[in-house]
Amino acid sequence: MNIHEYQAKELLAKFGVAVPAGYPALSVEQAIAAAGKLPGPLYVVKAQIHAGGRGKGKFKELGPDAKGGVRLSKTLNEVRANASDMLGNILVTVQTGEAGKQVNRLYITDGADIAKEYYLSMLVDRATGRIAMIVSTEGGMDIEEVAHSTPEKIQTIVIDPAEGFQPHHGRAVAYALKLSGDTNKQAQKVAAQLYQAFVATDMAMLEINPLIETTAGDIQVLDAKVSFDSNALFRHPDIAALRDESEEDSAEVEASKYDLAYIKLDGDIGCMVNGAGLAMATMDIINLNGMFPANFLDVGGGASKEKVTAAFKIILADPGVKGILVNIFGGIMKCDTIAEGVVAAAREVNQQVPLVVRLEGTNVDQGKAILAGSGLAIVPADDLGDAAQKIVAEVQKVA
Ligand code: GDP
Ligand code: MG
Repeated sequence: MNIHEYQAKELLAKFGVAVPAGYPALSVEQAIAAAGKLPGPLYVVKAQIHAGGRGKGKFKELGPDAKGGVRLSKTLNEVRANASDMLGNILVTVQTGEAGKQVNRLYITDGADIAKEYYLSMLVDRATGRIAMIVSTEGGMDIEEVAHSTPEKIQTIVIDPAEGFQPHHGRAVAYALKLSGDTNKQAQKVAAQLYQAFVATDMAMLEINPLIETTAGDIQVLDAKVSFDSNALFRHPDIAALRDESEEDSAEVEASKYDLAYIKLDGDIGCMVNGAGLAMATMDIINLNGMFPANFLDVGGGASKEKVTAAFKIILADPGVKGILVNIFGGIMKCDTIAEGVVAAAREVNQQVPLVVRLEGTNVDQGKAILAGSGLAIVPADDLGDAAQKIVAEVQKVA
């Protein structure tokens, strides 16, 4: 699960991390009120979307010369103009894809005087089973480009979670950033604080770009991107409450309500499958037959009729779906239950696209009888290869 920059900074501040003062705002009035609470003379109006690259982003509704989603503002009038430019408009960045993301929230922060921008990120490194802290003197710009053309400017410090963050880790970070004096000490401290925050809240990824040195020589976190391990969220109800569903794919949000594992993809064939392995195999065999899956969907082992109906509706709500392949192995889940769910859902949503159903396992004969007796245009299939060929043929017939 991802959170917004302002939420991440508020969280990090609880661990002692130095961040510029700031307030979120949902309207132009709130933005001006927020700026009024800050010392000035420089304010920063920042679009809050779950994507990076905002500074260099472009607003769809504004001209090509308009500024991006991070704007320095010298007066309250400039704050007003920038806030009204951004709110409700769609920001396209390298990370949003072409569709962009609508800006519904802003963060108004105290403008910092930047002497130098650094990079610091942390992630769980599965290869070593440890936490990797990645730092670079080249912050603020495209870190992928730095990694590509000057990889020696990126350094990784590996921390064993059993040992925890030690003073030598902090010194390694400050050394890699080529810092001296008090700034060096501050960097050591902030690295330790970020590590504590990472572990205590079960983060999967934390990216500070940039970590800045101010003209006064102080270290501050200027931007923060955080994602949490969803499997650990039950331990952190306060963090789970930060979820902003408007930032997520609406079908994926709907699927999570029914505990369905659903991921939207770009192809034409909607898939409803039980078991992640069978779902992957189904996607592969659709590919093999020359078309692409419109989604990954695992309805799970013990799905009810309601769950199957919900899954079916989610697939059909996707306008890109030109045909549906249901591939179920009835082990824990019985084939007649699946068949009832499919028939109920197809009737409810007035299904129009071709539908191929392959059932196998417990109560398969009852399941097939329910499908055949439904009066719906359902094409039965006997095995996985047969099912994939049939759905591709049906979709091409329509096209
Ligand atoms: P991103 O574009 O989504 O990564 O947003 P950031 O928060 O990282 O801001 C982008 C850039 O805007 C930073 O790298 C800075 O150069 C600049 N910026 C952001 N906040 C401030 C600020 O308070 N003062 C100054 N001078 N520049 C800022
Ligand atoms: Mg940034």
